Amino acid sequence: MTVTSSSPSPSLRHLITGAGGFLGSHLTDTLLAQGHHVTGIDNFVTGSRDNISHLQTHPNYAFIEHDLTKGLPEQLGNKGGKPNRFDRIWHLASPASPVGYVKHQVVTLKVNSCVAMQLLELAEAHKSRIFVASTSECYGDPLEHPQRETYWGHVNSVGMRSMYDEAKRFMEAATMAYHRERGVDTRIVRIFNTYGPRLAINDGRVVVAFITQALRNESLTVQGEGRQTRSLCYVEDEIRGFLALMDSDYHLPVNIGNPDEVTMIDLAKEIRELCNSKSQIIHTELPPDDPKLRCPDITLAKDRLKWTPIVSRREGLKRTIEFYRNKLGL
Ligand code: UDP
Repeated sequence: MTVTSSSPSPSLRHLITGAGGFLGSHLTDTLLAQGHHVTGIDNFVTGSRDNISHLQTHPNYAFIEHDLTKGLPEQLGNKGGKPNRFDRIWHLASPASPVGYVKHQVVTLKVNSCVAMQLLELAEAHKSRIFVASTSECYGDPLEHPQRETYWGHVNSVGMRSMYDEAKRFMEAATMAYHRERGVDTRIVRIFNTYGPRLAINDGRVVVAFITQALRNESLTVQGEGRQTRSLCYVEDEIRGFLALMDSDYHLPVNIGNPDEVTMIDLAKEIRELCNSKSQIIHTELPPDDPKLRCPDITLAKDRLKWTPIVSRREGLKRTIEFYRNKLGL
């Protein structure tokens, strides 16, 4: 994937946590293509070696396999050695699907709280700019629609999404505190549902679940009646939004997502058609606290970042289907 965006300056040193994940690996590819140096960290708790295997011999890429919940690695100064300095830190490490964060509840809490604070300290010490990946889940099951950044959210603090939602809300609070009190140069993105090649097949997220089911002519599992909505952003657009935010001077959270809203039942039908599949659609149980509606208001991103998504859902789905058709050998 090549994302066209003007590079802030030639060859900066970037650190990406969660570099083996879906977004981390696409961001890495884009930064390397722009001539930057990238160091990636991951322990593959939900990421995949496959996502970064093509980078092994890249001259500007280094990879550290490390569990950040055990502390920062030596290369970042953990054991008193001389740490590497990075111009930009991207904190993307976290389980990010409902299946993933329920499976790794404590890790999800730690990586978005203790680890985030260690990275904020690192950014302060090294005068790095730091970007943290927050989420539309901060809005919970929203009572405002579409969701603007000014909406405070409607989150169940002890529910089956709370380990993710509350950890991300904490991370936003921590990031703002380091910015206000310590002058750290921070950016906060609220990511809305993003899809594309390299999403893990078994992490339960809807686009890949429907695509793999349709390609295998298995039943498409629509949870509940399927009237709940999501607004799907193609990964290339999302990464372009990340870069625009990182290059901006804006410190408060910014929604990056595609406001093209769709019900899950319509999405199932669309994917079935695009896959030329004979799959049936069946209805399964709706998970607890599943947000009923989700759609970003992206006025802020349009105004401040001059960013807008450009890949249509149909085009993005076609590209994604092609990727999984090849991956599954179908
Ligand atoms: N969903 C579904 N079938 C599936 C997986 C998910 O109908 O096999 C629904 C789920 O109930 C939710 C939406 O798709 O309403 C998006 O789920 P996902 O896990 O992708 O992410 P979320 O937006 O809930 O974090």
